[in-house]
Amino acid sequence: MDNIVLEYRDPLFGLIILVSLVFIVSFTTYYYGIYKERLARKDYRKLSRRFELGKLKEDDYVHLYKTYNLPFDSILLLASSFLHKGDYTKAINVYLTLLEHVTDRVKKEELLELLGITYFKSGFLQRSKELFLRILKFSPRNKEALTYLLIIYEKLKDFEKAKEVATCLEELNKNMQKDKIYLDSLIIINDPISSYEKKTNLLYETYKEHKIIERIFVQFLLQFNKTFFWEHVEDFKTKNIIDLMWYLNFDDIDFDKVYKNDYLVQIYNAKGYIDNLKHSDDFVFDILILLNKHEHKINATLNFEFICSSCKQVHPIYDTRCPHCHDILSFNVRHNLAKGLTQDNQSLQ
Ligand SMILES: [Zn+2]
Repeated sequence: MDNIVLEYRDPLFGLIILVSLVFIVSFTTYYYGIYKERLARKDYRKLSRRFELGKLKEDDYVHLYKTYNLPFDSILLLASSFLHKGDYTKAINVYLTLLEHVTDRVKKEELLELLGITYFKSGFLQRSKELFLRILKFSPRNKEALTYLLIIYEKLKDFEKAKEVATCLEELNKNMQKDKIYLDSLIIINDPISSYEKKTNLLYETYKEHKIIERIFVQFLLQFNKTFFWEHVEDFKTKNIIDLMWYLNFDDIDFDKVYKNDYLVQIYNAKGYIDNLKHSDDFVFDILILLNKHEHKINATLNFEFICSSCKQVHPIYDTRCPHCHDILSFNVRHNLAKGLTQDNQSLQ
């Protein structure tokens, strides 16, 4: 017994115990570290495999953000891949999940903005509107939010509210002249009480000052006041509205006025409604006029496309606001020769 106590008290023995303990602890820590790293790597590999396959789940983004400390911008960039693929629901879910974990005010605003834009793109206008209004509550000078809000009000046909937003943007030094003229015209057209005559006069006054509303005005006239249109046809540049002229029903055309308008004579000779012209300066019209005179009927027609003067994108359908760059009344019409649909073709389809 004495012997053991003596041995235990031996300073050398104590030192050996201490060294062994240190060794055991560091050994365990080292291997535990390796084990943990291996687990994390496995987890990460699983994650990256899913990412390669484009199967990243909403929670994975939070995981990437919180566990792997991936920068916030990179997470947003990854999530934007859903937007490019048109999978808006997935993008919305990612943003919503991230929103629960993000505390920073700027990041939160950025997420709300992205969420609003995605809702807008997927057609949830009310939800999108609510989000932008929420952003504007704590950030009233957010131009992006205001711009979207204006377009949303416009799409929801709340033109008065859209004009209020336009005024806000004007106060932030954005040029809103075109938007305001356009919205004023829409307010006139959509007034439920005033008569077509009154609307015509108001629009005509606006048109004299601002030619940019030409197409909206003509569309209104062709629908509600054709008499006025033909009486004032010389006030319009028919070249800018060639598609509207081309698709007019034969019975809606005032040919007495047509004969006085050089460009309309060319259009309706090309269309085959009248036949008093041998040639046209316009190459496409010229071909159509020649084809109309041909004894074997060759079916050809015009088709139209619209080029945005701001972003130069080409669109098959006219829109008052460019879906690509959101500029207003920026479309110019261009006409091309196209194969016409024959009776046989139609019955085959
Ligand atoms: Zn555009």
